[in-house]
Amino acid sequence: MLNNICPVCGLEFDDEYPWGEDGKTSSFDICPCCGVTWGYEDCQPIARLNFRKQWIDNGMTWLNPDKKTKNYNPLLQVSRVIEFLEEKLIENKGI
Ligand SMILES: [Zn+2]
Repeated sequence: MLNNICPVCGLEFDDEYPWGEDGKTSSFDICPCCGVTWGYEDCQPIARLNFRKQWIDNGMTWLNPDKKTKNYNPLLQVSRVIEFLEEKLIENKGI
């Protein structure tokens, strides 16, 4: 399960679950990296995609620079979203 990553920017958390541990109950917290409000601006796939595109176009900066991870690599980070999406597809199709 990859429910400990931001589904927009791929930021990984140690013990935070943007959409709950079950991946279905959003926390309505704000991602310190991309700034999305989970459960609000990312509740539809198209909204999630648009938010991600906007974040990328704006230089993949941190909303809260104090929380910036060591060795921040935005492309590596956002690539986790692909893994997240694949896992969701597998879950939904019961593969
Ligand atoms: Zn994020």
